[in-house]
Amino acid sequence: MAIERTFSIIKPDATRRNLTGAINAKIEGAGLRIVAQKRVKWGKAEAEAFYGVHKERPFFKDLVTFMMSGPIVVQVLEGENAVAKYREVMGATNPANAAPGTIRKEFAESIEANSVHGSDSPENAAIEIGQVFKPDEIVG
Ligand code: GDP
Repeated sequence: MAIERTFSIIKPDATRRNLTGAINAKIEGAGLRIVAQKRVKWGKAEAEAFYGVHKERPFFKDLVTFMMSGPIVVQVLEGENAVAKYREVMGATNPANAAPGTIRKEFAESIEANSVHGSDSPENAAIEIGQVFKPDEIVG
């Protein structure tokens, strides 16, 4: 299977509760390597640009406000089948539907404050990584 990269965010609800290490233990435990990482706080322009695909959805404004509400940790993860593997480790968007042992089942507060983001395809992973990291910030 091909070595892929995917984009990950540890969201404000998780940084607020000091869960960065617990979440990354699950990521690394699944065999994914963190090859880029920074802690940042997004403003309106960054949050709106990142979630632009959802701008017609009723929850867009709330989602942007939530993503600006505290620090986040942005990361690039690398490994075999990384996009699908990380989606599996994250669990379903709504923690009520997430499988046991997943990040969202164990840590998410709600469908919005669901602790993590992960790219949904290799194409979107490349776009999202490029929005946030310069090539020389990724060290595999
Ligand atoms: P993901 O790929 O599993 O993160 O899910 P989506 O791409 O569908 O949604 C992006 C993000 O928007 C989710 O991770 C949630 O933080 C938020 N979100 C999704 N659905 C809802 C909703 O129905 N209500 C609210 N308030 N937020 C939502």
